[in-house]
Amino acid sequence: MIPETADSQGKHAMAADSYEAVIGLEVHTHLLTRAKLFCGCAAGFGAGPNENVCPVCMGMPGVLPVLNRRAVELAILMGLAAHCEISLYSIFDRKSYFYPDLPKGYQISQYETPLCKGGYIEIDPAGNGEPRRIRLVRIHMEEDAGKNIHEADASLVDFNRSGVPLVEIVSEPDIRSVEEAGAYLRELRAILRYIGASEGRMEEGNFRCDVNISVRRAGTSEYGTKTEIKNLNSFRFVEKAIEHEVKRQIEVLESGGRVTQETHLWDPLRQETRPMRSKEFANDYRYFPEPDLPPLRVSQELIDQIRAAMPELPADRRARFVHDVGLTPYEARVLSEEREVADYFEKAIAVGLKNHKGAANFVMTEVLRAVNESGKSLEQAAPSADETGALLKMVEAGTISLNAAKTAFAAMCKSGLGAAATVDELELVQVSDASAIGAACDSLIAAEPAKVAQYRAGRDKLFGFFVGMVMKAMAGKANPKMVNEILRKKLSG
Ligand SMILES: [Zn+2]
Repeated sequence: MIPETADSQGKHAMAADSYEAVIGLEVHTHLLTRAKLFCGCAAGFGAGPNENVCPVCMGMPGVLPVLNRRAVELAILMGLAAHCEISLYSIFDRKSYFYPDLPKGYQISQYETPLCKGGYIEIDPAGNGEPRRIRLVRIHMEEDAGKNIHEADASLVDFNRSGVPLVEIVSEPDIRSVEEAGAYLRELRAILRYIGASEGRMEEGNFRCDVNISVRRAGTSEYGTKTEIKNLNSFRFVEKAIEHEVKRQIEVLESGGRVTQETHLWDPLRQETRPMRSKEFANDYRYFPEPDLPPLRVSQELIDQIRAAMPELPADRRARFVHDVGLTPYEARVLSEEREVADYFEKAIAVGLKNHKGAANFVMTEVLRAVNESGKSLEQAAPSADETGALLKMVEAGTISLNAAKTAFAAMCKSGLGAAATVDELELVQVSDASAIGAACDSLIAAEPAKVAQYRAGRDKLFGFFVGMVMKAMAGKANPKMVNEILRKKLSG
């Protein structure tokens, strides 16, 4: 192999610039129901192997599936949130393939008549408040398969996941970059969590993604040959896999080759995609209508009811944060990505805070840091929103400094004590007593005659030094605004 020189790297970069990636995503996500899609077994995560199983979800012959109404309602809710057309009539199909985790030899899915058609998700990866629409092809319902577990001396199957309700959300190939793919996935996950349709937890395997990728010369409209990368279970893997596959396809085309239509697996250890053996992906699934389930008929009343009960969506919340609360699009996006964080912020300012941007900043830095560093949920990691609001109110009233509020907040996270008690205990109340501050300024001026003379002769930079000395003399508790005012007056006099 010829070692790559700076020059050949430059050529690659130029070649890459003249191509455009064309990406479509298929997301599978578990619906948040108590029971499975076609039986009464628990659908939750975390039970011991094969604890949540029955003859229906283990695929025994002669059993009959019964459709879970709640799962249909959640799928419709997602369809409405994504601006889809909801089918009043749809059918379930058998998707035929055999795998040990699917012993009945088919998966119940929807093929020709999905429950939701069309629709779109708006993304704003640049964060400039100018969203772009990624169109959807469809959202359909299906059951999940079990899980194969390969150990050193045996292959095992856990059927707890078998029959758990899924929706598959299929986008049009409207995505053009890694950034857009990331923004799309984050928005989808946020919507699912806001409406309570799914927890969207990738680490538990209930939010998985297949990626279709092709590249074409920038400025052309024909699609190139696409490859599919299956079963990516983290945002980072999706991003890495897209980057790798786009680069690989450009290199194939640049060296005069042709991209072949095939399915790849992402290998997170080697950080590369590799083709699956062709036997592992038979694309002809021999779909046929599931004879054990009647067609799914949805009434317009049910759709209207679900629409009327739709919770506020992330995009609406962001817009409200920008227009009503006065935040920037960036702040609004960070604060509204998780519903709990957005709720927390709104509850905190509801105690009567005037400085909404200050509160937003405090939540984005102090509160989110506490969550990230502890690895716990917001509720477990931080004081209640009311207490954080009360703390910030003390800052607004000048009772404590912002730095003192940060100290108090960190202590409150550990102790569980309220704002007032913590500020008391740590003696953080700042001194706003003009005569005490004045006395400290007088002693400083008396102690530093040479520097005072320099300052009065025009060395303005010394002012910061004086402020620091007074703050130090008062153990950091003096009201900084008052120190500034009093000191300036005394030095000019
Ligand atoms: Zn079951």
